[in-house]
Amino acid sequence: MASLIVAGGGIAGLAAAKAAALAGHEVMVLEQARNFTELGAGIQIGPNGRRALEELDAWDWLRLHVFHPQAIRIRHGGSGRDIGRVPLGEGFRRRFRGTYQVVHRADLLAALLATVEEEPAVSLKTSARVTGFREQDGRVTVLLEDGTELRGDALIGADGIRSRVRAQLLGDRPPRLSGHVLYRALVEREEVPAGVDMENVNLWLNARGHVVHYPVKGGTMFNIVASVNEPWGDNDTWGEPSDAAVVKQVFANAADEVRAVLNTPRSWMRWGGADREPVSTWGRGLVTLIGDAAHPTLPYLASGAVMALEDAVVLMRHLAQEKDLARAFRSYERERQPRTARIVNSSYKLSRIYHATGLMAAGRDVFIRLTSGPASFDRMAWLYDWRP
Ligand SMILES: Cc1cc2nc3c(=O)[nH]c(=O)nc-3n(C[C@H](O)[C@H](O)[C@H](O)COP(=O)(O)OP(=O)(O)OC[C@H]3O[C@@H](n4cnc5c(N)ncnc54)[C@H](O)[C@@H]3O)c2cc1C
Repeated sequence: MASLIVAGGGIAGLAAAKAAALAGHEVMVLEQARNFTELGAGIQIGPNGRRALEELDAWDWLRLHVFHPQAIRIRHGGSGRDIGRVPLGEGFRRRFRGTYQVVHRADLLAALLATVEEEPAVSLKTSARVTGFREQDGRVTVLLEDGTELRGDALIGADGIRSRVRAQLLGDRPPRLSGHVLYRALVEREEVPAGVDMENVNLWLNARGHVVHYPVKGGTMFNIVASVNEPWGDNDTWGEPSDAAVVKQVFANAADEVRAVLNTPRSWMRWGGADREPVSTWGRGLVTLIGDAAHPTLPYLASGAVMALEDAVVLMRHLAQEKDLARAFRSYERERQPRTARIVNSSYKLSRIYHATGLMAAGRDVFIRLTSGPASFDRMAWLYDWRP
């Protein structure tokens, strides 16, 4: 049994901890925050994500908190009409042998925390900010901000898009800004005006912006994400509160339903949309990365967290099969690189297509219409067909 250290206790970090424990190792998770918490926002999980959660023993807890939308409706921002639809009912379930669900991020983290806490081999340490690491004599020393040094056999960096572990490993440039700002809000179901679709994931496409909304917490709350073309300033802070004035301006002439949605929240939080160009490998020696630390993506394929869950399952398999930790890490990275790069690149392309205007928008709508309904399954198969 080796002892692994995981830097970061978000979705990727807790999933990695469970995976390493199931592979027979001891794990210590170091989280910089005082608690294991997630912001109030939603997350979509396709059948591939559900399969990963099952492998990590987190599905039984989470399934009580999910909402199953009937379809993803892709709608015209101006007229409100449906451009296309991905049906998520029986046909989808049969095709992908699994369900599509939306959840509250806090519920996903709680499910992972519950399953991690069942593992005696996992210890959790909060208020522990990792500043760097040293590889020495076939082991890794992890350095914390308060001066503490912790020794382990290997290190997994799960510390998100601005990962300290990645910075030391790869020394690459800051994340790539997309030119979009993302606004998120969560409201009680009762606050949502009558006439707003509460059964489906709605994706509204507009010139220079798009909106996604769906119910979470088993349908008792309502999650809204808006993305608009807007520069992210050097002095802007990720996750800061906002009145979303730019969103309302972009959607000023949009259909009544989406404007009603956008007028519902009393407060929003805003983030600069960012990702990184995929790298050919993200680990070295006894150190690897997982989740956003390895392959941060724009959220337009709704797959960042799900990729982290898949990563964990693949890592688990390689750690179980290969005693040499460095070799297990390299096999895991090799297996995950092509798929995660495809997701990151596809999400980036969607960021240009979703906010298109003029001819490009018209072409996009024709394509969506032609591949609507069950025809959309083939288009999504590469994403949702993933199996452990
Ligand atoms: C608007 C939006 C919508 C999204 N929708 C979806 C969706 O529908 N489906 C989906 O699958 N994904 C979605 N995502 C992506 C998803 O949120 C991320 O990919 C996922 O949260 C990444 O998890 P992570 O654990 O890798 O990173 P993070 O969530 O960033 O977690 C990193 C953790 O590490 C800790 N940490 C950071 N630095 C240190 C340090 N130095 N020392 C110790 N701890 C540290 C942090 O406090 C945090 O707890 C969306 C993202 C956005 C922005």
